[in-house]
Amino acid sequence: MKDEGQLNSEITRNLKAVQQRIAETCTRCGRDPGTVRLVSVTKTMSAETVRLAIQAGAVLFGENYIQEAREKCGTLAEYPVFWHFIGHLQTNKAKYAVKLFDLIHTVDSLRLATELDREARKIGKVQKILIQVNIGKEVSKSGIDAESAETLIRSLAAFPHLLVRGLMVIPPFFDEPERVRPYFRGLRELRDSLNKPGISGIRLDELSMGMTGDFEAAIEEGATLVRIGTAIFGERQ
Ligand SMILES: *Cc1c(COP(=O)(O)O)cnc(C)c1O
Repeated sequence: MKDEGQLNSEITRNLKAVQQRIAETCTRCGRDPGTVRLVSVTKTMSAETVRLAIQAGAVLFGENYIQEAREKCGTLAEYPVFWHFIGHLQTNKAKYAVKLFDLIHTVDSLRLATELDREARKIGKVQKILIQVNIGKEVSKSGIDAESAETLIRSLAAFPHLLVRGLMVIPPFFDEPERVRPYFRGLRELRDSLNKPGISGIRLDELSMGMTGDFEAAIEEGATLVRIGTAIFGERQ
């Protein structure tokens, strides 16, 4: 076990390095670094570890599991940080999700959206969401087909307690970031093609894409939210 001081300096150093790589990538491709937000992915990490990241300056966290997030958000309620949901969301967990999360990245069905709208209404909230798109049409991956995304988003425009802010993708795993790039580009092109004619009441600004192994390519392709765990917290158990 590492002691807390060791872990603290490691997280601080890693976080700075990731922030710097994000800034350098932006400079290299002519983007304003203010347009890319870092989502520190804390699944499996303890509340104490998250606390160290908060003290090191992280303000936005991504969680994958509702129960785990409920515990951590409770423990860390005193901190003015934001929580995003990036895991697969079951419909019966929608009521917890709307209470905890500023943004839910993984909406991929009308059924889930309907439940989120209903639960958000109960607590008087407009829930911000992203639509998770299955760009590569892989079997067994969640996410809606690119062709069906427009229909879904058009239906969601009528939901008073949901606000669609953009798109999200989890590409298949490749060792080389260059092989993932087409998925990032595909997501950006889809967003742009949906924004062009426009859908009344909806403007898709966010692109949630890029993780530890490929976030630089994602930023070059237009990512506005990069979801990074390992590069900050080390390998998960
Ligand atoms: C775990 C996870 C990440 C972070 O992955 P790293 O490779 O550790 O950076 C990003 N997005 C999603 C959806 C995840 O589940």
